Amino acid sequence: MATVTTMKCACDKCLCVVSLEDAIVKDGKYYCSEPCADGHTKDQSCGHGGCTCG
Ligand SMILES: [Zn+2]
Ligand SMILES: [Zn+2]
Ligand SMILES: [Zn+2]
Repeated sequence: MATVTTMKCACDKCLCVVSLEDAIVKDGKYYCSEPCADGHTKDQSCGHGGCTCG
């Protein structure tokens, strides 16, 4: 039986939910994408539809 665990992306503005398997882990937090994990230093959004973070 597979355990599916999801968490909201640790980015404040991001509404995405990621599974722990796919998440990018940085400083013990789980992010949905590289831009989120980088704190949007490059002015990119996470790239997920409907999400306006970044
Ligand atoms: Zn997002
Ligand atoms: Zn995110
Ligand atoms: Zn974000």
